[in-house]
Amino acid sequence: MSSTRVALVTGANKGLGFAIVRDLCQQFQGDVLLTARDEARGRAAVQQLQAEGLKPRFHQLDITDLQSIRALRDFLSKEYGGLDVLVNNAGIGFKTGDPTPIAIQAEVTMKTNFLGTRDVCTELLPLIKSRGRVVNVSSGMGFKALESCSPELQQKLRSETITEEELVGLMNKFVEDTKNGVHRKEGWPDHTYGVTKIGVTVLSRIQARKLSEQRGGDKILLNACCPGWVRTDMTGPKAHKSPKEGAETPVYLALLPSDAEGPHGQYVHEKKVAKWQFMPQFYP
Ligand code: NAP
Repeated sequence: MSSTRVALVTGANKGLGFAIVRDLCQQFQGDVLLTARDEARGRAAVQQLQAEGLKPRFHQLDITDLQSIRALRDFLSKEYGGLDVLVNNAGIGFKTGDPTPIAIQAEVTMKTNFLGTRDVCTELLPLIKSRGRVVNVSSGMGFKALESCSPELQQKLRSETITEEELVGLMNKFVEDTKNGVHRKEGWPDHTYGVTKIGVTVLSRIQARKLSEQRGGDKILLNACCPGWVRTDMTGPKAHKSPKEGAETPVYLALLPSDAEGPHGQYVHEKKVAKWQFMPQFYP
């Protein structure tokens, strides 16, 4: 087993994840794993970085496929005895105006953005080494969606004591409510992507709390962040930031120095702990 440190980025064959891998290759002391659900797209991305003189490694990972997550977990255990940095970047979003029924949009988006990210965390967080760093790429759109939830839902989702099981229950309920045509009556907004990102941010707060309780001495720092509005296939050319600029906050959190005491369990925007709020100046 190698004593080399290792950082891993999900959904890294393009967009923000690719830019994060490039920066980590330049700044992280250790191996950087570029992961992608599609092997050909992932290997092409690795080749592109190799042409720039960088040396990422590749491993397949589809975050909606438990077998794929577990194969990666076993690879990390065997090769590295754990994991130093995990960046949960993989995500999807239907385009505004997409005619797909909301129930399908909700189910598909939840499966990747929230449930997939949670499954990756369930399998890989136990591998995170002392002073490891975990970054969950969320979105300010989550706060916009939260502000549109009923007061009852907001109270539950903002609670400092909400459990992971309760959060999963609420996220699944949103999907069920869209299927039954009652999501508005039940206090949810129409913004499916935003609701999934509420899930990612609240999950991060819960996971950070658990790490502090169960492994406080290990000084692992886990945070959610918003990269800002970034020009990728998800958003299009009008967005304000280049992928490189969007990568700055996730990379900052991934590389927090080993003696850092924080941030931990926070929502970070522009490299600063932000109140969990929607900032319209960063979006159209
Ligand atoms: P993107 O260019 O569409 O890239 C998304 C990446 O996620 C792709 O590599 C995609 O792989 C991968 N992915 C999707 N489903 C996956 C799965 N099941 N397993 C593994 N990988 C999967 O979008 P992006 O803008 O870079 O988004 C990256 C993250 O930033 C997302 O979580 C997004 O919600 C978040 N974010 C983006 C913005 C923005 O303005 N762009 C703002 C806030 C938050 P394929 O190529 O195989 O589809």
